[in-house]
Amino acid sequence: MPNQPALVKCLIWDLDNTLWQGTLLEDPEVQIPEGIREVISTLDSRGILQSISSKNDYDHAWERIEKLGVAEYFVHPQVGWGRKSDAVVHIAQQLNFAVGTIAFIDDQAAERAEVAFRAPEVRCYAADQALALPGLAEFSPTVVTVDARRRRQTYQASFRRDAERESFPGADEEFLRSLDLVMTIKRADAEDLSRVEELTLRTSQMNATGVHYSDAELRGLLDDPGHEVLTVSLSDRFGPHGAVGVLLLANHPGIWHLKLLATSCRVVSFGAGAVILNWLIDQAASAGVHLAADFRPTDRNRMMDIAYRFAGFTDEPCPCLAGLELAAADDIQRLHLAAAPRAAPATMQLITPDLLK
Ligand SMILES: [Zn+2]
Repeated sequence: MPNQPALVKCLIWDLDNTLWQGTLLEDPEVQIPEGIREVISTLDSRGILQSISSKNDYDHAWERIEKLGVAEYFVHPQVGWGRKSDAVVHIAQQLNFAVGTIAFIDDQAAERAEVAFRAPEVRCYAADQALALPGLAEFSPTVVTVDARRRRQTYQASFRRDAERESFPGADEEFLRSLDLVMTIKRADAEDLSRVEELTLRTSQMNATGVHYSDAELRGLLDDPGHEVLTVSLSDRFGPHGAVGVLLLANHPGIWHLKLLATSCRVVSFGAGAVILNWLIDQAASAGVHLAADFRPTDRNRMMDIAYRFAGFTDEPCPCLAGLELAAADDIQRLHLAAAPRAAPATMQLITPDLLK
């Protein structure tokens, strides 16, 4: 999208004279103007996360936030006496967001300057711009999907899940089983593709096969009888993870060619890549075909390389590969596997289509 500024994924609010009118230390009954409340709920409904960076006593400020009925809207609030730039960078790290996707709003020019100096990619706004934010292009995603509308709940569920994982006494596989994970793989329609748009567009934030396909290319293949476009979503007892993966498969006589496998870095630790590959291998075995997979090593996708090798993919040549089109780039490896039946995963329930039909 040329001329479209990069979307803001998280807005960080100052409290005194920005989120609320007045200074909490002087007025314990500070109020949030109605217009500001509307900005908060509007941005939330667009899937933009919100947080707080405020110089105040944490307990005091958070008690007021709760009393004002807006606590649920804020993730990883930072209230204390440290530098605001540190708070902003910390929030970005906690969310696994690039700093360039963060926005910061504060009534104090000195605080905005401090953040702009130490984290120049952060977009800074003065408090008197607050009511105008929802009208700005960087706060206006063109498509708001079901997943986006519940993005905050998805993140909050993941914080509870991570906390429980850290304190879980048993083996990791036992923890995964305790989650009641359900993975759904389905043939994609246009709505499903908009749910995985972030996976296909924001290559820097995903763990994948390193091969890029644009959203338009994938849409163009939805009705192509020679291709399967599949999306993957995951849920568990803490709530939905949302859409977490996308596959592009080209069907040839005797061989299926996996051109794209992208999974969200959020679900790498659940072994999602391996589960998807095992299912695909089992389907290929039923169809009596070999599998080829394109893979381009990057500094972020070593886990996926391991998943391929562990699933049995190799660099060995096979006559079936001669029928495939050349790889789109020189540094793309073409892995191969002669498929044999696979067992269902031990850590999650699978809901899948039958690719033979
Ligand atoms: Zn082969």
